[in-house]
Amino acid sequence: MEREVILRNALNVYGHRAQILVAAEECAELAQALLKYTRRDGTVAEIDAAYHVREEMADVQIMLDQLYILFGKPRDWERRKLERLAHRLTQDA
Ligand SMILES: [Mg+2]
Repeated sequence: MEREVILRNALNVYGHRAQILVAAEECAELAQALLKYTRRDGTVAEIDAAYHVREEMADVQIMLDQLYILFGKPRDWERRKLERLAHRLTQDA
């Protein structure tokens, strides 16, 4: 099944509210994985932590793609925030 079809089916089958809640949960899981990764110590646990970060990134991307369908892509916000970041970088670099 095509990616877009899968995402739209998930929204239709589980409902918008449920998928919004899952998106919030997946964001929290990514945050937790990132925090755990920062505690890495050069052991095998570091590889596991990076693996888990990538897994949670995939979960968040899938949910973010569903949020794009529900709310639209925030291209204007991204452009403005990237411009602001670029401006800060010229001041901080
Ligand atoms: Mg997850």
